[in-house]
Amino acid sequence: MPDDPPYTDKQAEERLLKRRRDILALLDGHSQDGKPVELDQTRVGRLSRMDALQHQAMAQETERRRQQELTRIDAALVRLRNGSYGDCVECGEPIANKRLDLDPSVLYCIACAG
Ligand SMILES: [Zn+2]
Repeated sequence: MPDDPPYTDKQAEERLLKRRRDILALLDGHSQDGKPVELDQTRVGRLSRMDALQHQAMAQETERRRQQELTRIDAALVRLRNGSYGDCVECGEPIANKRLDLDPSVLYCIACAG
């Protein structure tokens, strides 16, 4: 098992809230990408429109992932308050710090995620 002590609730909460702020900032900055594609009159042509549509699809996918992460972060904050944060929701074993480093809202231990 990892030698590092688990994060304290305070550390975990700070990490989650920071991540939450980062995502909200990103969502804010990219909100325009969610609007319908308008034809750029200076670059009219099939290719540029397809580029724009493709770009929009990617932006929407990115935004969808961020919304999902926000949902997970909110759930993690709830678990932090009821004392189950950091435990795998599947098997109840503690989740390795390395996994929480990558994503503080992760729900499963390495065994259950695989
Ligand atoms: Zn597990």
